[in-house]
Amino acid sequence: MNFCSQCGHKVSLRIPAGDNRERHVCDHCGSIHYQNPRIVAGCLPVHGHQVLLCKRAIEPRYGLWTLPAGFMENGESTEEAALRETLEEARAEVVLRKLYTVSSILHVNQVQMIYLADLPEAHFGSSEETLETRLFSEDEIPWDELAFPTIRNALRFFFADRAETSPSFPLRHLALSPGHEELLLES
Ligand SMILES: [Zn+2]
Repeated sequence: MNFCSQCGHKVSLRIPAGDNRERHVCDHCGSIHYQNPRIVAGCLPVHGHQVLLCKRAIEPRYGLWTLPAGFMENGESTEEAALRETLEEARAEVVLRKLYTVSSILHVNQVQMIYLADLPEAHFGSSEETLETRLFSEDEIPWDELAFPTIRNALRFFFADRAETSPSFPLRHLALSPGHEELLLES
């Protein structure tokens, strides 16, 4: 950030009075421009014994597989965002079952929330953001062609939880640090 969105003058990076970290502060009008993590919401759609993945038609990670997910819009809930992104990217109408993974991705300042969801009908499609959408059984998952570590984690948890005698799919908390080191903080 170089200029103040309130008055257009230059901003500088400094610690405001009473704060403890650097912020972009306007030298002219004194506005403090806080920057905070953004929330990504999405779904892990399940149809029978298969899960639905999307092949990305956009950068980053063009051509790699992911779960339908994207940035929340103002004025919507995380549930609405997850449903909207699944409809937009996979053309799929799902029923949310429960919040499943919450990942703090420290190096990109994002929090990703993935809901476990049922896909009642095998209806889905591609979109401007998706080259191809398809159902995968566990032994078909393209583990080496997944777009993000958070997606790999969600799928790993899902198949491990599903293998339990009476699966409960507990909420998983994850923090991914700048070195992509994955710290597991299970609840
Ligand atoms: Zn200003």
